[in-house]
Amino acid sequence: MTVKIIDGKKIASQFFDKIKAEVSVMKNKPGIAIVKVGNDPASEIYINNKLKKAAELGFYVERFNLDEKSTLGEILKVVDKLNQNNKIHGFIVQLPLPTHIDEKLIMGGILPQKDVDGFTPLSMGNLAIGNNLMIPATAKGCLELIKSTGQKISGKNAVIVGRSNIVGKPLALLLLQENATVTICHSKTRNLVKYTQNADILVAAVGKSKLITADMVKKGSIVIDVGINKVGSKIIGDVDFENVKDVAGYITPVPGGVGPMTIAMLLENTLKASKLPRSHY
Ligand code: NAD
Repeated sequence: MTVKIIDGKKIASQFFDKIKAEVSVMKNKPGIAIVKVGNDPASEIYINNKLKKAAELGFYVERFNLDEKSTLGEILKVVDKLNQNNKIHGFIVQLPLPTHIDEKLIMGGILPQKDVDGFTPLSMGNLAIGNNLMIPATAKGCLELIKSTGQKISGKNAVIVGRSNIVGKPLALLLLQENATVTICHSKTRNLVKYTQNADILVAAVGKSKLITADMVKKGSIVIDVGINKVGSKIIGDVDFENVKDVAGYITPVPGGVGPMTIAMLLENTLKASKLPRSHY
């Protein structure tokens, strides 16, 4: 069996086309804002990509740049202004935040109906009970990529390496909803290979280049690489793509896999938020 490369760029562009068509006939355009705190260079690229695409699709966009030394109160003030801004239907505070800021307190301040990242306690709780209002974009993007293979998810062994609140945990909940048997591995997992070798669906969301090698992958499996690692001037994933592609049945490339889907799902969430009445929460 030859490996099928899952073309995230192409799949994302189908979502973008659909969103653009819908926005073009809306009188009140969906509004999105992104708050950046500090000077993380990677965040700068992600924010630009998100807002550029949003503007391209006809969204109203705003951006806020706060100083690295901003206090919790100063950030929450901006969050509150956005909560009240009628032109903004959804906004995100780009992570990571400077270490002196408690991320949970910021997430807790975002109005749930504007939480298009899906990271607030209410959104995460809703997801846990199968009430999928705002699903974290990267996790949702991974699920769409898995579904794009046309393979049945129900009953399959899905192994997620990485247990972060933004990727690993929400994706585990989504795959559980799809009736996969889900295992979450993490930095303290002993004998990682024992789990990954049994995975019909393997998702790597760690941030360690080439952590997943060919010997760790089950033949014919679906491999989704969330990792973004800068090695020299190149961006590579958590999966040793060149060798794993000889074993897997389906695999996402980095770049051009999960990344574009994250943006597509974020904008899909924002479009959804612009149409939801408050009574949904
Ligand atoms: P994180 O640092 O919050 O979590 C990493 C996880 O990996 C942790 O749960 C940790 O326990 C686990 N881990 C660390 N070392 C491990 C090891 N040796 N074996 C097994 N597990 C190990 O990271 P995150 O925010 O979830 O992001 C993960 C990666 O995905 C990063 O490279 C990030 O840049 C990337 N990412 C990509 C997108 C995208 O749109 N493509 C979006 C979000 C994150």
